[in-house]
Order: sequence, then structure tokens, then C-alpha cells
Amino acid sequence: MRKLGLIGGMSWVSTAMYYEQINKGIARRVGGVGNAHLLIESFNFAPVAQLQAEEQWDALAALLAASAQRLQQAGAEGLLLCSNTMHKLYDEIAATVEIPILHIGDVTAAKMVQDGVRRAGLIGTRFTMNEAFYRDRIEQHGIAIATPDPAMMKEIDRIIYEELTRGTISRVSQRTLKTCLTIMGQARNQAVILGCTELVMLVDPVANVIPVYDTTALHCKAAAAWIMGEEAQAAPQVALAAVGR
Ligand code: GLU
Repeated sequence: MRKLGLIGGMSWVSTAMYYEQINKGIARRVGGVGNAHLLIESFNFAPVAQLQAEEQWDALAALLAASAQRLQQAGAEGLLLCSNTMHKLYDEIAATVEIPILHIGDVTAAKMVQDGVRRAGLIGTRFTMNEAFYRDRIEQHGIAIATPDPAMMKEIDRIIYEELTRGTISRVSQRTLKTCLTIMGQARNQAVILGCTELVMLVDPVANVIPVYDTTALHCKAAAAWIMGEEAQAAPQVALAAVGR
């Protein structure tokens, strides 16, 4: 079983889901009292969110690269970056370590390709929705990406930073998300990507108006497969990374 490092705390609310889901994935496979061997560095989200708001990406890259190196030094054989948004800095961070980092966009796209999804809506932070780093990564797999209108994007971003990353779930926000998913379905999207690791708190991925891809769950599934050395079941990119990129 491989030892996996998690760069988390972005926010702690979703890192808690990662911890639970990865352990459950391993426990199911090994039985008994077995579970995953994990190393977790959980950041205080306040300064991280502040640096994001100030668009201090170089400082954030340095912060996360240092974390990746500490986890590698401590014996992690692979890493997860437990935030879609921070995948903006994936290349910078990955370049500073020798171990693979399982990309959340690749594992999500791999499942969508398997399901035959060719066009999907994407929701997440304003950075994830507006910038190319995430959309391009998904589109490389042959899936066209659409985003909500600017007012809806603004509200979803507010919900993430003012509610979900603080552990707050509100009825009003659940309704907002439902409206957003309905509109995306009417716009001929075949599915919606929950491109923020906290969004699943507001959406039921199994009972929805449109198929929903929960990036947290997909990332955790790929992580559990990778821990067990089941490369074929993780994303192709993961298998590639595991043989040394
Ligand atoms: N967890 C979030 C994500 O998946 C948002 C928090 C952050 O900005 O890192 O994008």
C-alpha cells in the first residue's frame, strides 16, 4: 500500500471529506481494521484565501510547493492537492517534487469520458470558472465546458467563500444551486462538474435534475485506487505519473 500525502485545509471542511472517503475506500478493499496510510498538511485557510483574493499566486505557489516538499520528505509517495482552485498552480508545485500529484481535473474528465459526456457545465470559485487552467485541462479530454452567467458565478463564488468553506449549509444556497443546475441542463449540457471540493455539501449528486460530477468523490476514488496500485482504475494521467512522468 502506498503512502499518500494530502495538501489540505482549503478548506478543512472538504479535507475532512477526503480523509473519510479515502479511508473508507481502502477499508472496503482490505477489510478488518485496515485503512489508508496518509500524511496531511492542513493549512489555515484564512491567509490562503487572503492571498487568493490579492492574486498573489507566486506566494501561494511557494507556500504549496514547500508543503509538497515537506510531505515528500516525510515519506509520501504521491500527493493530492485538495482544492480545484489551487490546481491553477499544479505545474509549479509538481515541478518541485519527484513524486506524482494526482490531478483532480484529469480524474474527473476520465470518468466523464467513460460515461460519454461531451459537453458539461462547470461551477466552482471565480478563479476556476473564469480562468483557463481548469477548463483547458478538462477540454483536453474532448469535453466542451460552459460556465454560468456572471451574476450566478458571483453568487456561487460568494457561497463558497462566505458559507461552505466555513462549514455553513443554507437552504437559500441549496435552492440557488438547484436553479443553476436546472439552467445548465436547459442549455444542453449533459452534466455539471462540481469544480469546488465543498460544493457537494449543497447538491445531492445521485438525485439531481442533471448528472453531477463530484470532484471530491472522484479525486478520493482515484486516490484509493492509486494507494492500492490499481493504476488502470485511476485516471490515465495517474498511471503515467506513477511510472515517472
Ligand atoms: N475547495 C475549493 C476548491 O475546490 C475552494 C477553496 C479554495 O479556494 O482553495 O476550489
